[in-house]
Amino acid sequence: MSEGEVRLVSGSPSAEDSLIEGSLRPSRLEEYIGQEKVKENMRVFISAAKSRGEPIDHCLFYGPPGLGKTTLAGVLAHEMGVNLRITSGPVLERAGDLAAILTGLKEGDILFIDEIHRMNPSVEEILYPAMEEFSIDIIVGQGPGARSIRLNVPRFTLVGATTRLGLLTAPLRERFGVLLRLEFYTPEELKRIIVRSAKILKVEIDEEGAYEIARRSRGTPRVANRLLKRARDYAQARADNVITLEVAKRALEMMEIDDGGLDALDREFMLTIIDKFEGGPVGIDTIAASISEEKQTLEDVCEPYLLQQGFIKRTPRGRVATALAYRYFNRTPASQTGALSLDSLKEERNA
Ligand code: ADP
Repeated sequence: MSEGEVRLVSGSPSAEDSLIEGSLRPSRLEEYIGQEKVKENMRVFISAAKSRGEPIDHCLFYGPPGLGKTTLAGVLAHEMGVNLRITSGPVLERAGDLAAILTGLKEGDILFIDEIHRMNPSVEEILYPAMEEFSIDIIVGQGPGARSIRLNVPRFTLVGATTRLGLLTAPLRERFGVLLRLEFYTPEELKRIIVRSAKILKVEIDEEGAYEIARRSRGTPRVANRLLKRARDYAQARADNVITLEVAKRALEMMEIDDGGLDALDREFMLTIIDKFEGGPVGIDTIAASISEEKQTLEDVCEPYLLQQGFIKRTPRGRVATALAYRYFNRTPASQTGALSLDSLKEERNA
Protein backbone atom coordinates (compact mmCIF):
# COMPACT_ATOMS: atom_id res chain seq x y z
CA MET A 1 0.00 0.00 0.00
CA SER A 2 1.47 3.37 -0.96
CA GLU A 3 2.10 6.09 1.56
CA GLY A 4 -0.89 8.31 2.26
CA GLU A 5 -3.33 5.69 1.04
CA VAL A 6 -5.93 4.86 3.64
CA ARG A 7 -6.98 1.35 4.38
CA LEU A 8 -10.73 1.23 4.00
CA VAL A 9 -11.33 -1.08 6.91
CA SER A 10 -8.77 0.47 9.24
CA GLY A 11 -10.34 1.77 12.41
CA SER A 12 -7.86 4.63 12.57
CA PRO A 13 -9.11 8.00 11.35
CA SER A 14 -7.98 9.43 8.01
CA ALA A 15 -7.92 13.11 7.06
CA GLU A 16 -11.11 12.58 5.06
CA ASP A 17 -12.81 11.02 8.09
CA SER A 18 -12.04 14.00 10.30
CA LEU A 19 -13.72 16.32 7.81
CA ILE A 20 -17.13 14.77 8.24
CA GLU A 21 -16.82 12.86 11.50
CA GLY A 22 -17.86 15.91 13.46
CA SER A 23 -21.22 16.00 11.74
CA LEU A 24 -21.83 12.28 12.23
CA ARG A 25 -20.94 12.18 15.92
CA PRO A 26 -23.90 11.73 18.20
CA SER A 27 -23.86 14.25 21.04
CA ARG A 28 -26.42 12.76 23.43
CA LEU A 29 -26.40 9.40 25.19
CA GLU A 30 -29.73 8.47 23.57
CA GLU A 31 -28.29 8.96 20.10
CA TYR A 32 -25.23 6.87 20.90
CA ILE A 33 -26.08 3.50 19.38
CA GLY A 34 -25.05 0.18 20.98
CA GLN A 35 -22.53 -0.33 23.84
CA GLU A 36 -25.47 -0.89 26.18
CA LYS A 37 -23.36 -1.89 29.19
CA VAL A 38 -21.12 1.13 28.85
CA LYS A 39 -24.12 3.44 28.47
CA GLU A 40 -25.81 1.96 31.53
CA ASN A 41 -22.67 2.65 33.56
CA MET A 42 -22.43 6.17 32.19
CA ARG A 43 -26.03 6.92 33.11
CA VAL A 44 -25.35 5.96 36.72
CA PHE A 45 -22.15 8.02 36.94
CA ILE A 46 -23.75 11.05 35.32
CA SER A 47 -26.77 11.11 37.58
CA ALA A 48 -24.70 10.44 40.72
CA ALA A 49 -22.23 13.20 39.84
CA LYS A 50 -25.05 15.62 39.04
CA SER A 51 -26.86 14.94 42.30
CA ARG A 52 -23.65 15.47 44.28
CA GLY A 53 -22.88 18.55 42.23
CA GLU A 54 -19.38 17.22 41.52
CA PRO A 55 -17.45 16.31 38.37
CA ILE A 56 -17.51 12.66 37.30
CA ASP A 57 -14.69 10.32 38.30
CA HIS A 58 -11.76 9.99 35.89
CA CYS A 59 -12.70 7.45 33.21
CA LEU A 60 -10.62 5.22 30.99
CA PHE A 61 -12.14 3.89 27.76
CA TYR A 62 -10.33 1.11 26.01
CA GLY A 63 -10.87 -0.89 22.85
CA PRO A 64 -9.81 -0.95 19.18
CA PRO A 65 -9.78 2.31 17.15
CA GLY A 66 -13.02 3.64 15.69
CA LEU A 67 -15.42 2.16 18.26
CA GLY A 68 -16.55 5.51 19.63
CA LYS A 69 -14.24 6.47 22.51
CA THR A 70 -13.85 10.12 21.46
CA THR A 71 -17.56 10.29 20.69
CA LEU A 72 -18.38 8.99 24.16
CA ALA A 73 -16.18 11.65 25.79
CA GLY A 74 -18.15 14.26 23.83
CA VAL A 75 -21.44 12.72 24.94
CA LEU A 76 -20.26 12.82 28.54
CA ALA A 77 -19.36 16.51 28.27
CA HIS A 78 -22.68 17.30 26.63
CA GLU A 79 -24.71 15.43 29.23
CA MET A 80 -22.80 17.09 32.09
CA GLY A 81 -23.06 20.51 30.42
CA VAL A 82 -19.29 21.10 30.53
CA ASN A 83 -16.55 21.84 28.00
CA LEU A 84 -14.50 19.15 26.31
CA ARG A 85 -10.81 19.65 25.65
CA ILE A 86 -9.26 17.09 23.31
CA THR A 87 -5.58 16.18 23.10
CA SER A 88 -3.52 13.04 22.71
CA GLY A 89 -0.57 11.29 24.36
CA PRO A 90 1.95 11.79 21.54
CA VAL A 91 1.03 15.50 21.15
CA LEU A 92 1.91 16.28 24.77
CA GLU A 93 5.67 16.34 24.37
CA ARG A 94 6.73 18.25 27.45
CA ALA A 95 5.36 18.57 30.98
CA GLY A 96 4.72 22.25 30.24
CA ASP A 97 2.30 21.34 27.42
CA LEU A 98 0.05 19.49 29.83
CA ALA A 99 0.47 22.09 32.58
CA ALA A 100 -0.75 24.79 30.18
CA ILE A 101 -3.84 22.78 29.28
CA LEU A 102 -4.65 21.90 32.88
CA THR A 103 -4.40 25.46 34.16
CA GLY A 104 -6.63 26.64 31.31
CA LEU A 105 -9.50 24.29 32.23
CA LYS A 106 -12.66 25.39 34.00
CA GLU A 107 -14.24 23.66 36.99
CA GLY A 108 -15.90 20.40 35.88
CA ASP A 109 -14.40 20.41 32.35
CA ILE A 110 -13.51 17.15 30.67
CA LEU A 111 -9.98 16.64 29.39
CA PHE A 112 -9.83 13.86 26.82
CA ILE A 113 -6.42 12.31 26.20
CA ASP A 114 -6.44 9.91 23.27
CA GLU A 115 -3.71 7.25 22.99
CA ILE A 116 -2.90 7.87 26.62
CA HIS A 117 -0.53 4.89 26.63
CA ARG A 118 1.81 6.88 24.37
CA MET A 119 2.37 9.70 26.82
CA ASN A 120 5.88 10.77 27.72
CA PRO A 121 6.82 9.61 31.29
CA SER A 122 7.70 13.20 32.34
CA VAL A 123 4.23 14.33 31.25
CA GLU A 124 2.60 11.39 32.96
CA GLU A 125 4.21 12.38 36.24
CA ILE A 126 2.49 15.76 36.18
CA LEU A 127 -0.79 14.01 35.63
CA TYR A 128 -0.69 11.95 38.85
CA PRO A 129 -1.05 14.81 41.38
CA ALA A 130 -3.38 16.62 38.96
CA MET A 131 -5.74 13.64 38.93
CA GLU A 132 -5.52 12.99 42.67
CA GLU A 133 -5.18 16.34 44.35
CA PHE A 134 -5.97 18.76 41.53
CA SER A 135 -2.59 20.38 41.83
CA ILE A 136 0.63 20.34 39.82
CA ASP A 137 4.25 20.97 40.70
CA ILE A 138 6.13 23.06 38.23
CA ILE A 139 9.78 24.03 38.22
CA VAL A 140 10.48 27.73 37.93
CA GLY A 141 13.90 29.02 36.94
CA GLN A 142 17.05 27.12 36.10
CA GLY A 143 20.21 25.80 37.75
CA PRO A 144 20.78 26.27 41.50
CA GLY A 145 18.08 28.96 41.68
CA ALA A 146 15.38 26.64 40.34
CA ARG A 147 12.52 25.89 42.67
CA SER A 148 9.35 23.93 42.54
CA ILE A 149 6.03 25.63 43.06
CA ARG A 150 2.65 24.02 43.54
CA LEU A 151 -0.30 25.29 41.51
CA ASN A 152 -3.92 24.38 41.95
CA VAL A 153 -5.88 23.29 38.90
CA PRO A 154 -9.68 23.28 38.60
CA ARG A 155 -11.49 20.06 39.54
CA PHE A 156 -11.68 18.41 36.14
CA THR A 157 -12.48 14.96 34.80
CA LEU A 158 -9.84 13.13 32.86
CA VAL A 159 -11.11 10.80 30.17
CA GLY A 160 -8.32 8.65 28.81
CA ALA A 161 -8.63 6.45 25.74
CA THR A 162 -6.37 3.63 24.70
CA THR A 163 -6.33 0.82 22.20
CA ARG A 164 -4.05 -1.14 24.50
CA LEU A 165 -4.83 -1.35 28.19
CA GLY A 166 -1.75 -3.52 28.73
CA LEU A 167 0.60 -0.70 27.71
CA LEU A 168 -0.64 1.67 30.40
CA THR A 169 1.61 1.99 33.44
CA ALA A 170 0.11 0.59 36.64
CA PRO A 171 0.19 3.90 38.56
CA LEU A 172 -1.73 5.63 35.78
CA ARG A 173 -4.29 2.87 35.45
CA GLU A 174 -4.91 2.84 39.20
CA ARG A 175 -5.80 6.53 39.20
CA PHE A 176 -8.88 6.02 37.05
CA GLY A 177 -12.10 5.49 39.01
CA VAL A 178 -13.90 4.00 36.03
CA LEU A 179 -12.58 1.54 33.44
CA LEU A 180 -14.88 0.82 30.51
CA ARG A 181 -14.23 -1.51 27.65
CA LEU A 182 -15.86 -0.80 24.29
CA GLU A 183 -16.94 -3.85 22.33
CA PHE A 184 -17.28 -4.45 18.60
CA TYR A 185 -20.80 -3.59 17.37
CA THR A 186 -23.27 -6.12 16.03
CA PRO A 187 -24.34 -5.82 12.36
CA GLU A 188 -27.80 -4.70 13.58
CA GLU A 189 -26.29 -1.84 15.58
CA LEU A 190 -24.03 -0.84 12.70
CA LYS A 191 -27.02 -0.84 10.41
CA ARG A 192 -28.71 1.70 12.67
CA ILE A 193 -25.55 3.82 12.64
CA ILE A 194 -25.42 3.65 8.83
CA VAL A 195 -29.08 4.60 8.44
CA ARG A 196 -28.55 7.52 10.81
CA SER A 197 -25.38 8.66 8.99
CA ALA A 198 -27.08 8.31 5.59
CA LYS A 199 -29.82 10.67 6.76
CA ILE A 200 -27.26 13.24 7.88
CA LEU A 201 -25.29 12.87 4.63
CA LYS A 202 -28.54 12.94 2.61
CA VAL A 203 -27.80 9.59 0.97
CA GLU A 204 -30.61 7.30 -0.06
CA ILE A 205 -30.11 3.76 1.17
CA ASP A 206 -32.48 0.85 1.67
CA GLU A 207 -32.57 -1.59 4.60
CA GLU A 208 -30.81 -4.39 2.75
CA GLY A 209 -28.11 -2.11 1.38
CA ALA A 210 -27.47 -0.75 4.87
CA TYR A 211 -27.30 -4.25 6.33
CA GLU A 212 -24.84 -5.43 3.69
CA ILE A 213 -22.45 -2.58 4.49
CA ALA A 214 -22.97 -3.11 8.24
CA ARG A 215 -22.18 -6.79 8.01
CA ARG A 216 -18.85 -6.08 6.36
CA SER A 217 -17.75 -3.17 8.57
CA ARG A 218 -15.74 -5.34 10.98
CA GLY A 219 -17.86 -4.28 13.94
CA THR A 220 -16.56 -0.68 13.76
CA PRO A 221 -18.66 2.50 13.29
CA ARG A 222 -15.79 4.44 11.72
CA VAL A 223 -15.42 1.73 9.07
CA ALA A 224 -19.20 1.64 8.54
CA ASN A 225 -19.32 5.39 7.91
CA ARG A 226 -16.35 5.20 5.57
CA LEU A 227 -17.83 2.33 3.52
CA LEU A 228 -21.13 4.21 3.38
CA LYS A 229 -19.38 7.21 1.82
CA ARG A 230 -17.64 5.03 -0.76
CA ALA A 231 -20.90 3.26 -1.58
CA ARG A 232 -22.57 6.64 -2.01
CA ASP A 233 -19.88 7.69 -4.50
CA TYR A 234 -20.39 4.43 -6.34
CA ALA A 235 -24.17 4.87 -6.37
CA GLN A 236 -23.79 8.38 -7.74
CA ALA A 237 -21.38 7.37 -10.48
CA ARG A 238 -22.71 3.96 -11.50
CA ALA A 239 -26.29 3.62 -10.20
CA ASP A 240 -29.28 5.90 -9.62
CA ASN A 241 -28.05 7.45 -6.42
CA VAL A 242 -29.69 4.82 -4.24
CA ILE A 243 -27.69 2.28 -2.26
CA THR A 244 -29.55 -0.98 -2.68
CA LEU A 245 -28.27 -4.46 -1.80
CA GLU A 246 -26.94 -4.90 -5.31
CA VAL A 247 -25.21 -1.51 -5.37
CA ALA A 248 -23.69 -2.12 -1.92
CA LYS A 249 -22.37 -5.50 -3.04
CA ARG A 250 -20.82 -4.11 -6.20
CA ALA A 251 -19.28 -1.16 -4.33
CA LEU A 252 -17.80 -3.47 -1.68
CA GLU A 253 -16.42 -5.75 -4.32
CA MET A 254 -14.74 -2.81 -5.99
CA MET A 255 -13.19 -1.90 -2.62
CA GLU A 256 -11.89 -5.50 -2.37
CA ILE A 257 -13.69 -6.11 0.88
CA ASP A 258 -14.70 -9.73 1.08
CA ASP A 259 -17.79 -11.35 2.46
CA GLY A 260 -16.42 -11.46 6.00
CA GLY A 261 -15.38 -7.78 5.93
CA LEU A 262 -11.70 -8.67 5.51
CA ASP A 263 -9.59 -6.50 3.25
CA ALA A 264 -6.36 -7.20 1.40
CA LEU A 265 -4.17 -6.67 4.46
CA ASP A 266 -6.24 -9.02 6.65
CA ARG A 267 -6.06 -11.66 3.96
CA GLU A 268 -2.34 -11.20 3.56
CA PHE A 269 -1.91 -11.45 7.33
CA MET A 270 -3.89 -14.70 7.49
CA LEU A 271 -2.34 -16.28 4.42
CA THR A 272 1.15 -15.48 5.68
CA ILE A 273 0.44 -17.49 8.84
CA ILE A 274 -1.26 -20.29 6.94
CA ASP A 275 0.94 -20.62 3.86
CA LYS A 276 4.35 -19.35 4.93
CA PHE A 277 4.37 -20.54 8.54
CA GLU A 278 2.23 -23.64 8.32
CA GLY A 279 -0.49 -22.13 10.47
CA GLY A 280 1.87 -20.94 13.23
CA PRO A 281 2.72 -20.38 15.98
CA VAL A 282 4.54 -17.39 14.56
CA GLY A 283 5.55 -14.17 16.30
CA ILE A 284 3.94 -10.88 15.34
CA ASP A 285 7.35 -9.34 14.54
CA THR A 286 8.00 -12.08 12.01
CA ILE A 287 4.60 -11.60 10.37
CA ALA A 288 5.11 -7.83 10.25
CA ALA A 289 8.54 -8.21 8.64
CA SER A 290 7.23 -10.79 6.23
CA ILE A 291 4.49 -8.55 4.84
CA SER A 292 6.36 -5.22 5.33
CA GLU A 293 3.68 -3.74 7.54
CA GLU A 294 3.99 -1.99 10.89
CA LYS A 295 3.60 -4.27 13.84
CA GLN A 296 1.41 -1.71 15.60
CA THR A 297 -1.06 -1.59 12.70
CA LEU A 298 -1.35 -5.35 12.76
CA GLU A 299 -1.81 -5.41 16.52
CA ASP A 300 -4.28 -2.53 16.74
CA VAL A 301 -6.32 -2.97 13.60
CA CYS A 302 -6.05 -6.47 12.11
CA GLU A 303 -5.69 -8.67 15.14
CA PRO A 304 -8.57 -7.61 17.40
CA TYR A 305 -11.09 -8.34 14.65
CA LEU A 306 -9.46 -11.55 13.47
CA LEU A 307 -9.33 -12.75 17.09
CA GLN A 308 -12.96 -11.85 17.65
CA GLN A 309 -13.97 -13.66 14.47
CA GLY A 310 -12.08 -16.74 15.64
CA PHE A 311 -9.56 -16.75 12.76
CA ILE A 312 -6.48 -16.59 14.97
CA LYS A 313 -5.48 -17.52 18.48
CA ARG A 314 -2.79 -15.88 20.56
CA THR A 315 -0.44 -18.30 22.27
CA PRO A 316 2.74 -17.64 24.27
CA ARG A 317 4.73 -18.82 21.25
CA GLY A 318 2.94 -16.65 18.71
CA ARG A 319 -0.16 -16.44 16.52
CA VAL A 320 -1.89 -19.57 15.33
CA ALA A 321 -4.43 -19.87 12.52
CA THR A 322 -7.58 -21.74 13.60
CA ALA A 323 -9.46 -24.50 11.80
CA LEU A 324 -12.10 -21.89 10.94
CA ALA A 325 -9.47 -19.80 9.15
CA TYR A 326 -8.37 -22.82 7.14
CA ARG A 327 -11.96 -23.39 6.06
CA TYR A 328 -12.56 -19.72 5.26
CA PHE A 329 -9.48 -19.53 3.09
CA ASN A 330 -10.09 -22.94 1.60
CA ARG A 331 -6.81 -24.41 2.79
CA THR A 332 -5.95 -27.79 4.25
CA PRO A 333 -3.97 -27.87 7.51
CA ALA A 334 -0.38 -29.13 7.08
CA SER A 335 -1.02 -32.05 9.44
CA GLN A 336 -3.68 -33.37 7.09
CA THR A 337 -1.74 -32.82 3.89
CA GLY A 338 1.24 -34.46 5.62
CA ALA A 339 -0.79 -37.58 6.41
CA LEU A 340 -2.17 -37.70 2.92
CA SER A 341 1.16 -37.36 1.22
CA LEU A 342 2.70 -39.99 3.50
CA ASP A 343 -0.05 -42.43 2.53
CA SER A 344 0.38 -41.63 -1.11
CA LEU A 345 4.14 -42.10 -0.71
CA LYS A 346 3.54 -45.58 0.74
CA GLU A 347 1.15 -46.37 -2.07
CA GLU A 348 3.77 -45.27 -4.54
CA ARG A 349 6.38 -47.49 -2.82
CA ASN A 350 4.09 -50.53 -2.84
CA ALA A 351 3.08 -50.04 -6.41
P1 ADP B 1 -12.46 6.24 18.62
O1 ADP B 1 -12.25 7.46 19.45
O2 ADP B 1 -12.78 5.03 19.46
O3 ADP B 1 -11.35 5.96 17.64
P2 ADP B 1 -14.63 7.80 17.46
O4 ADP B 1 -15.34 8.22 18.70
O5 ADP B 1 -13.77 8.82 16.80
O6 ADP B 1 -13.77 6.46 17.73
O7 ADP B 1 -15.75 7.25 16.44
C1 ADP B 1 -15.56 7.19 15.05
C2 ADP B 1 -16.81 7.58 14.30
O8 ADP B 1 -17.78 6.56 14.46
C3 ADP B 1 -17.47 8.87 14.82
O9 ADP B 1 -17.34 9.90 13.90
C4 ADP B 1 -18.93 8.58 14.94
O10 ADP B 1 -19.61 9.18 13.86
C5 ADP B 1 -19.05 7.10 14.76
N1 ADP B 1 -19.56 6.46 15.98
C6 ADP B 1 -18.81 5.87 16.93
N2 ADP B 1 -19.57 5.31 17.88
C7 ADP B 1 -20.85 5.56 17.52
C8 ADP B 1 -22.11 5.21 18.12
N3 ADP B 1 -22.19 4.49 19.23
N4 ADP B 1 -23.23 5.62 17.49
C9 ADP B 1 -23.14 6.32 16.33
N5 ADP B 1 -21.98 6.67 15.73
C10 ADP B 1 -20.84 6.29 16.32
